[in-house]
Amino acid sequence: MGTLSIVATPIGNLGDITFRALWTLKEANAIYAEDTRVTAKLLHHYGLRTPLFRLDAATEAKKAGEVVKRLEAGEKIAVVSDAGTPGISDPGARLVAYVRETLPEAKIEAIPGPSALTAMLSIAGISADVFLFLGFLPHKKGRQTALKGIAESTIPVVLYESPHRILKLLGELAKTDSKARVVIGRELTKLHEEVLTGAPEELAKTLEKGKKVRGEFVVIIKPSRR
Ligand code: SAM
Repeated sequence: MGTLSIVATPIGNLGDITFRALWTLKEANAIYAEDTRVTAKLLHHYGLRTPLFRLDAATEAKKAGEVVKRLEAGEKIAVVSDAGTPGISDPGARLVAYVRETLPEAKIEAIPGPSALTAMLSIAGISADVFLFLGFLPHKKGRQTALKGIAESTIPVVLYESPHRILKLLGELAKTDSKARVVIGRELTKLHEEVLTGAPEELAKTLEKGKKVRGEFVVIIKPSRR
C-alpha cells in the first residue's frame, strides 16, 4: 500500500522548505500540484525531476480516483499547493477525505511547514493562544453576516485577502468596527515583507499612498469590544 504525503511548500522565500519536504518530493513517484508551472519552479530550484500532475480545486474530485489507484499499486504520492500548506484555503482536503474513505489502509502523512497564517501570527505581536481563522471572506452572500460576526468577536480574527479587495475590506471594517486594531502582513517572507498596524481607516490611507495595492495579505482584526 502506498503513502499519500501532504507537503507544505514556501509562501514566497524558496529557502523555506524542510529537509523532509524535499526528501518526500524527491522520493515520490508523482507530485500532484495545484499549478504545475508554480511547482515546476520549486522543483527546478532544488534540482528535482519528479513527474508533476495537476490537482486543483476544479479537478480534485476527478483526480482522487487516479490517486487511489496509484496508492493501491504501492506508489508514493505527494500533494502540494501553490504556496504554504495544502488544505488551508487551498485544495487538498477533499482528496484526503476520499482516500481515507476508500482506502483506509493507505498511509496519509503530513509534511508540515510554512503557512501564511502561522507566519503572520508569529510576528503580529498579538497573542495567538486563541483566534478565529475565517480564510477568505465570501465575496457576496454571507459577507455582511461575517463582517458583523468579526465586529462582535471576543477573540482576534484572521483573514486572507487579495490585493484587489484589501481596500474594500478595510472600508467595510471601518464601518462595522472603526476602533478595531488591525494588523496587516504583506508579502511575508519576501523581499518587501511588511507589517502594518492601525485602525481600518488609517491602514487604508497608508495602503492608498502606493499607486496600486500589490502583494498578498494576511489580516488580523482585534475587535474593539475585546
Ligand atoms: N495554503 C496557503 C497557506 O498555508 O498559507 C494559503 C493559500 S491561499 C489560496 C493564498 C492566500 O494566502 C493569499 O491570498 C494571501 O492572503 C495569503 N498569503 C499567501 N502567501 C502570502 C505571503 N507571502 N504574504 C502574505 N499573505 C500570503
